[in-house]
Amino acid sequence: MQLRIAQTVPDTEAEGPGKRFALWVQGCTLRCPGCCNPEMFAPDKGGQWVDTAQFAKTILQTPGIEGISVLGGEPFQQPEALAELCALVRAGGLTVMIYSGYTMEELRAQGTSAPLLATTDLLVDGRYDQTKPEKSRRWIGSSNQVMHFLSDRYTATDPRFGTPNTIELRFVNGQLTINGWPQAADAMRKP
Ligand code: SF4
Repeated sequence: MQLRIAQTVPDTEAEGPGKRFALWVQGCTLRCPGCCNPEMFAPDKGGQWVDTAQFAKTILQTPGIEGISVLGGEPFQQPEALAELCALVRAGGLTVMIYSGYTMEELRAQGTSAPLLATTDLLVDGRYDQTKPEKSRRWIGSSNQVMHFLSDRYTATDPRFGTPNTIELRFVNGQLTINGWPQAADAMRKP
């Protein structure tokens, strides 16, 4: 199966618990004001297609990671291919964390979301709301968003969820990028 991805960071600690392979998918029709990844809106431009089985092998060969984090773009707008990828990496022992702009209620009402939800350990749901920046919860962009523990791989009492937020700066293709702080990433793009 083919999945359209926008970018990857193979070893980040700013997008979920532990060291993770972060993957941004291409395409999102939700268009939250202040989204820090507007170049990932178009479903048919930008990014690249990857074969899910091959890509899962690449992820599983990454040393020292605890899981993958899927961001976007909107993961649930490519639910079938992503469910296949997530099932493969989970079978290899990794955990799956997904950031979706849809609420859990919306996802449960969508007939296509069930297989991907079934392969998700941790879901952060809801539109990014730039008027409600999250001040205390780690790995959450705005205060309306909810963290859902969908398996026994993570619990709300995990001490890592109570530590201060992490920001990572790195150069990618000669450009400074920010992971882990949507407001800063959005501000950096503005002239
Ligand atoms: S759902 Fe995520 S990727 Fe889509 S517009 Fe909102 S913040 Fe951006």
